[in-house]
Amino acid sequence: SECFSHALSSLDKADLVTSDRRHLLHPQHHPSDSADPFVWVHGDGVFLTDIDGRRVIDGLSGMWNVSLGHGRRELVDAATRQLSRLAFSTAYAGATHPPAIALADRLAGLVPPSIHAFYFTSGGGEATDSSIRTARYYWRALGKSAKTTVIARELSYHGSTLGAASATGVAEFSEVFGPRLPGFHHIASPYPYRFTSAPGDRRSIGEAAADLLEEAIVRIGPHNVAAFIAEPIQGGGGGIIVPTDDYFPRIRAICDRYDVLLIADEVITGFGRTGRWFGLDHWGVRPDIMQFAKGITSGYIPLGGMGVSERIKSVLDGAPPERRWWHGYTNSAHPVACAVALETIRVLDEEGLVERAARQGARLLQHLRNALADHPNVGDIRGQGLLVGLELVADRPSKERFAASDAIGERVRRELLKRGLYTRVLPDIICLAPPLVTPEQVIDQIADIVVTSIEAVLPR
Ligand code: PMP
Repeated sequence: SECFSHALSSLDKADLVTSDRRHLLHPQHHPSDSADPFVWVHGDGVFLTDIDGRRVIDGLSGMWNVSLGHGRRELVDAATRQLSRLAFSTAYAGATHPPAIALADRLAGLVPPSIHAFYFTSGGGEATDSSIRTARYYWRALGKSAKTTVIARELSYHGSTLGAASATGVAEFSEVFGPRLPGFHHIASPYPYRFTSAPGDRRSIGEAAADLLEEAIVRIGPHNVAAFIAEPIQGGGGGIIVPTDDYFPRIRAICDRYDVLLIADEVITGFGRTGRWFGLDHWGVRPDIMQFAKGITSGYIPLGGMGVSERIKSVLDGAPPERRWWHGYTNSAHPVACAVALETIRVLDEEGLVERAARQGARLLQHLRNALADHPNVGDIRGQGLLVGLELVADRPSKERFAASDAIGERVRRELLKRGLYTRVLPDIICLAPPLVTPEQVIDQIADIVVTSIEAVLPR
């Protein structure tokens, strides 16, 4: 590591950035984003250090994934052990290896009891595509080949592969690429802060939002609908949207009534982020397919996947060979990724980090609410576990948003950084998802930084 830092210190940041801009394409990037980007070179615990030696709190756990924090020796050792033993072998055609077997077995004891068998991918977008193809395959195998439509929600994020982007409920992310795939339909989110029901509607917000699914299924025709896909708590598309407690139980009942599979996208919410092992555990709701990625390896190596119910597995197992589930990725069940996932789960479990996320998340929420609940530009403070969102508004009574040209979110983001907190603001919603291992005093420090940064941009 000394050698590594020596090599880096001899590099000029400006040269690196020039070279980066010449040859590297970045996710969702535009050259106007920043003329002086971070060049990250080191991580330790909840801190990231850039090439100039600036050390900041990683308020988003990398990309919502580094749950155990940076520099965990156990994860490095798990990876290197497996790399030297067997770096790669295929899982095609029924071949297997111990890390994949052990991981599937471990997961079976952790996930909601409706989930029974697992398929591994390299990330969340591939997991979304795997879920959708599997739902369609399932109905077709049962002779219901018209059941192909997927219903998703506005403000959802499911990934950037063509299928996952078609499910994603942020139209701007697809418009520039031409039409989304046919067979996708979107309903409004159960967004407690902004959901408005018709005047005189006696249903709760959660009930009214869930009933939108029933209306869509009836309109499209249940014989045409394969699945409903939803993040238990919405993340990247809408800025941390926590549904009310009555939403998912009612969704489950509607899916059952019309023979529609429920796909839970637990890519952000899985593996303890929300204070339970999985997001749907908060409501005891059992999905038919559950997809995951990110936190399963704490981001140390790419891994995603999906779990399916026993019924779905039995349909896969019962197909004639020529009608088999023709789905596969080279990197499916990559041995090194599976070994790191097993070690991540061991640490989460043995260090009690899931319960810890619930406690620290409640502490963070409370601290923010105590300091900001009456701030005229703080519209909503919400969250579950260490997944917290704070929505800034131009006017509290009307919930009116700031004009994009005010760039309030960007100004707050810069103030956060100045005070040592790195995170995303989407576009006026401050997203907080620090590592599950974040010490209590750093949780308080994060809250203090958020409060002083908001007060700096938006003095009362
Ligand atoms: N689903 C959800 C809920 C996500 O948050 C993400 C990534 N932010 C994805 C899917 C896509 O995952 P990936 O970027 O690994 O393809």
